[in-house]
Amino acid sequence: MHNRTTELKLKDCTELEVLRHYNKLSNKNFCIEKGFYPLGSCTMKYNPRINERISKLEGFFDLHPNQKDEDCQGALELMYKLQDYLKIITGMDAVCLQPCAGAQGEFLGMLIVKKYFLDKKEDRKIVLIPDSAHGTNPASASMCNFEVIEVKSDEKGLVNIAELEKLIEKYSSNIAAIMMTNPNTLGLFDNNILTISSLLHKNGSLLYYDGANFNAIMGHTNPRLMGFDIVHLNLHKTFSTPHAGGGPGAGPVCVIKELEDYLPNPRIEFSEGLYKRTYNNKKSVGRISAFYGNFNVLVKAYTYIYMLANDLKKVSTDAVLAANYLKSSLEDYYNIPFKGICAHEFVISNCDKKEKGVSTLDIAKRLMDENIHPATVYFPLIVKEAFMVEPTESETKEVLDNFINVMIKIAKEIEKGEDFSIYPKKTPVKKVDEVQAARKPDLKEC
Ligand SMILES: *Cc1c(COP(=O)(O)O)cnc(C)c1O
Repeated sequence: MHNRTTELKLKDCTELEVLRHYNKLSNKNFCIEKGFYPLGSCTMKYNPRINERISKLEGFFDLHPNQKDEDCQGALELMYKLQDYLKIITGMDAVCLQPCAGAQGEFLGMLIVKKYFLDKKEDRKIVLIPDSAHGTNPASASMCNFEVIEVKSDEKGLVNIAELEKLIEKYSSNIAAIMMTNPNTLGLFDNNILTISSLLHKNGSLLYYDGANFNAIMGHTNPRLMGFDIVHLNLHKTFSTPHAGGGPGAGPVCVIKELEDYLPNPRIEFSEGLYKRTYNNKKSVGRISAFYGNFNVLVKAYTYIYMLANDLKKVSTDAVLAANYLKSSLEDYYNIPFKGICAHEFVISNCDKKEKGVSTLDIAKRLMDENIHPATVYFPLIVKEAFMVEPTESETKEVLDNFINVMIKIAKEIEKGEDFSIYPKKTPVKKVDEVQAARKPDLKEC
């Protein structure tokens, strides 16, 4: 044991200096409290402050995860009731709240698919995934040792049924599942979903629903009605919780009765007047995270659903209305490759702007100087110069109108041949070298 012989070289700061330092830093960040955040595929909705209040209650926040069942009835009841809500919302029969992200939910879903077929002594190695899917879908399937085969979209941006039929004929009993999101990442609802689900079920395959786009359908339809067997939800998207910057999240998995026994232990059950953690799932694929997942996010989602109740349907109605309002207002100024009504988001393709010397990235940087967070760029991969907009239900018409005006102003600047290489000019960090900024981030320079 050596004792320090010299003083620790720490700067002496007054409390006020520390407060000012952190306050200054926090002001340099962009956040939903500062401006519009139309980040496609992320559902950056307002997070009602009551969610924070409830999740900070001592009985939730300071609870030790190893507390006895009898001593944490409130927390267990909340999880049990949240599972019930999610069953109603998705139409499924059983829920596991453990996964801490959408991608982790997918991973759990694929583990379940794997074990289900192993138990049936069927060696199915292939998972079909549409080319419009989120990158986490093929990643999750690959992590469970499935071979991923891409299903091409048709000219409308939907699953090409003829192509799907060919794949089913070719690989037949080798196909374990299809992973889909509906509406898909182009913001398009696939009306052929019942044909797709019956084709796969006839083939003995399962259907996995990536529920990250649930904000478009809540209360209007559900994955059970579409024929899905396994679903994950992104509580940190559809059911609020601030999640910019990568966390925290929760990606519960909901399944049909036949798959319930594969869910991780512990299950939350209610019997003899007591909420309990049980460990009886013999076929379980195993734990997916420590304890019960991100409990704090579960509390926020429960509060959100409890507060809105039947108005959850209106959330989706308003989110879809806002997206269609933006889409139809921008159609004369931007190339929107997929026509007709969109769901909660839509994709612009800026190839025409690129020909004039302004890329999607330049437009994203230009938006920052208007106090608007950039849209999602270069995703989905099947649209060139993609610029993906998701307004959510949270914003007022004034905010949407301002976005429309700014986007029209930008289109006109591009027409006039203005220089876009100078943006952003007003942010704490100006134009960065995209490659170096990712490889050698300088976290002090601002
Ligand atoms: C966000 C998203 C995911 C992944 O969810 P994470 O919580 O970020 O892991 C998967 N699919 C779609 C369509 C998404 O938008």
